[in-house]
This record gives sequence, C-alpha cells and structure tokens, in this order.
Amino acid sequence: MTDDRAEHPPMREAFSLLGHEIRLEILAALIDEWVAAYTEPCTYAELMDAVDMQDSGKFNYHLGKLRGIYVEKVDDGYVPTAATTALYRTVLAYQPNQDIDRTRFTVDSACPSCGSEPVGTYERGFLSVDCDSCAEWVGFSYPFPKHGFENRSDDDAVRVAHRRCKHHVQLAHSGQCPFCAGPTTSQIRADALEEGNEPTVTIDCDSCSFRVGPRILFLLLLDPSATTALTDIGIDIDQYEWELPDPRIRIVSSNPLRVRVEIDGEERTAAIVIDESLDVCSVVIDQ
Ligand SMILES: [Zn+2]
Ligand SMILES: [Zn+2]
Repeated sequence: MTDDRAEHPPMREAFSLLGHEIRLEILAALIDEWVAAYTEPCTYAELMDAVDMQDSGKFNYHLGKLRGIYVEKVDDGYVPTAATTALYRTVLAYQPNQDIDRTRFTVDSACPSCGSEPVGTYERGFLSVDCDSCAEWVGFSYPFPKHGFENRSDDDAVRVAHRRCKHHVQLAHSGQCPFCAGPTTSQIRADALEEGNEPTVTIDCDSCSFRVGPRILFLLLLDPSATTALTDIGIDIDQYEWELPDPRIRIVSSNPLRVRVEIDGEERTAAIVIDESLDVCSVVIDQ
C-alpha cells in the first residue's frame, strides 16, 4: 500500500463496499421503500426477489458486506441506514454522470466595483458570480448541486445558491458543520485591516473538508439584531451580500478583539461590533 492509499481509510472502505452490481441492486431495492426511521423492513426473501437472485450463498455474501454500514438487520428483515440515503441524495443532487448546458450566463445584478452586469458560471459543481469588466471584485462562489437548476431560470438558480450558502454559513457559524454535523471553529483575523483590506473571516469544520471564508457583511446578514438594524436604516437585507453598501471597518480593541463595522443607510448609519468568534456584541444606530 502506498502512502497515498493510506489516506482517508474510512472513505476508501465505504466506497469500495459499493463496487459490486448485486450490492447496488440491494441498496436500490431498499431505498425504494425509504421512510426514514419508519421504513418497513424488507424480508430476506423479498430482498432476494427484488434483486432477482437465486443463489442464496452469493446473495448472502453481498448482503453481509453491506450490513452494519449501509444495511441494518432488524426483527422483521432489513432496512437501509441513513448513510445509504445520504449517499443516494448526494448523487441525485450533483448528477456527476450528466452534462449541463448552463455553464455561462448573465446575472441580474451589478458588480460592486464597476457597476457592470456580472457573469454567472457553473463549473465542477461550483456556481460562481464574477465581473468580466474589472478585476476589482472578488465575486461569489459556492458548491451548488446540478439538480438546483431544474425548473429554475439562471437568476433563480443564483438566488437559490446564495440563499443556500447563507443557510450553510449560518449553521456553520452556530458551531455545527452543515455537512458532517461536527463542531466548527469561527475566526476573524484582523491584520489585513492594517493594509486597508477587510479582515479575513473563516469558518472551518474540525473534521471534514468544509471551509467558508465569508465577508463580514455576509455574517451580519445572519444575526437578528444586525438585520433588524440594517432594515431600520432602510437596507434591503434580502439582496445579494455584494449589493449591500460598502462598510467601514476598524478595530476598536485588540485584546479582547472587537471590530466595528459601520454601514450607511439612506439617512442613518448602523454601527455593529463583533468579537473574535464573529458574534455580534452591540448594535447602535447613529442618528
Ligand atoms: Zn466590475
Ligand atoms: Zn464537517
């Protein structure tokens, strides 16, 4: 075994168990009856019938390989585990073996730097929105299942992807990875401010590969006291995060870290202070 192969042993084991047509047939038969924890068990005979097998030795061998991970034996037969449906849904969502024709389209919005109409692209499962006319704006990019384009216009798909990202960031910021449910760590690094840039914000899952680097404004859209203040000063909080007015950001305290974000509304300004875990400490509207 090479060093490369030694990496990710649980993933390798889980995928390798699926590498047989009979096992896939067994899982397909079980998924058909899926009603979460209330799934009616499939008896041994029914399952053998469903996969059209006569050789019980062979059938037993493959069923045995799936047991414990993808299939559980209960009193009246066999049921799929939540791991089976999670994999099934991921494949259905990302449709890795199907092409999509919407790889490039215009987005009904404006580049925050130059005002041009941004361009949306869909590549490798990522939906991105960027500006072709200037190199000033960092843009938006997030994994988006191919299935999300179904029965939606290009603009609807971008809206849905943006909302999906917002929900995931909200869950991640609350301490739970949206994909593996493991604990997350939120961090702000304020050194970039010294060079006149926005502070770097990251939320990482401690276990899987999930990592997001949202702008501070995006995080403020997730806090009820911040969104109430932004609404009060006349800012539409349902717009894309890049359409919000540019904030003024400065450090008010280094130890403990406190960062003040000021956003101008039509007539008034909201000043929101956040701490090193990206939690909102105070919200004030200047008259
Ligand atoms: Zn631009
Ligand atoms: Zn995770």
